[in-house]
Amino acid sequence: MSRVTIVTGGTRGIGEAISLALRDLGYTVAANYAGNDEKAKAFTDRTGIKAYKWDVGDHEACLAGCAQVAADLGPIDVIVNNAGITRDGVLARMSFDDWNEVMRINLGGCFNMAKATFGGMRERGWGRIVNIGSINGQAGQYGQVNYAAAKSGIHGFTKALAQEGAKYGVTVNAIAPGYIDTDMVAAVPPQVLEKIVARIPVGRLGQAGEIARGVAFLCSEEAGFVTGSTLSINGGQHMY
Ligand code: NDP
Repeated sequence: MSRVTIVTGGTRGIGEAISLALRDLGYTVAANYAGNDEKAKAFTDRTGIKAYKWDVGDHEACLAGCAQVAADLGPIDVIVNNAGITRDGVLARMSFDDWNEVMRINLGGCFNMAKATFGGMRERGWGRIVNIGSINGQAGQYGQVNYAAAKSGIHGFTKALAQEGAKYGVTVNAIAPGYIDTDMVAAVPPQVLEKIVARIPVGRLGQAGEIARGVAFLCSEEAGFVTGSTLSINGGQHMY
C-alpha cells in the first residue's frame, strides 16, 4: 500500500533526504516548503516529487495545505514534522520576535500539522507522525534558548500525543539529530563548527541520509510497537 506522506521542509537538507528515502520505499510523498521557490522547483524537477508551499507556523495554512494534499493524493497517513529554523543569540540580544518565530514554526508547526491530520489517522486506524527534534533540545545550547525550548517542547509533545494515538494504530515518535551537514549547519561559523566536531565521538558531522533511515524505520509497518520514543542519531555526542 502506498501511504500518503507529507514531509514539512521536505525540499532541501534533512527533509529532502527524508522525502527521497520514503519515496524510494513506495510512499506517496508531498514535500512542503516555506519560501525558497528556486530550491523547491529544482527538487521537483530532479525527483518528480510534488512540492507544496505553505508556512507550517500558520494554523489556517496548514489546514488548507493538508486538505489540498489530501485532495491531490488521498488521505494523509504519515506526517514528518521536519521544518525548522534558527534565530540564534544569547538571551541579552535575543528579541521577542526571535523567540516567538522559533516557537511558532518549530513547535507550533508540529501542533498545526497534527491538528490537520491526526483525527483522520485515528478514524482510519493507522498513522505515523515523526517529529524532528534536536540534540540541543535534549542538552541545551549556548545562544539558543528559543531553539532549545522549542525542540525540547517537541519531545514532550511527542510523548503526550503518542498516548492519544496508541489505541488507534497511530504512533508518534521523535528523532533528535546531532549536527548534520546541511545549510543550517553551514551557517555556523567555521571556528565554532570545528569545536563542535571535536566533541562528536564518531569524529564527523552526520549525513542527512542517516536521519532519513531513522525516519523510514519509525514510519514502517514493523514499527507499530514503537511509540512515544525519541531516537537520538548524533554520533555519540549526547547519550541518555
Ligand atoms: P534547512 O535549513 O537545511 O532546511 C529547512 C527546511 O525547512 C527548508 O525546506 C525550509 O523551506 C523549511 N522551512 C523553514 N521554515 C518553514 C516554515 N515556516 N514552513 C514550512 N517549511 C519551512 O534545515 P535542516 O535540513 O538542517 O534541518 C531540518 C530539521 O532538522 C529542522 O527542524 C532542524 O531544526 C532539525 N535539526 C537539524 C540539525 C542539523 O544539524 N542540520 C540538527 C538537529 C536538528 P525553504 O526551503 O522554503 O526555506
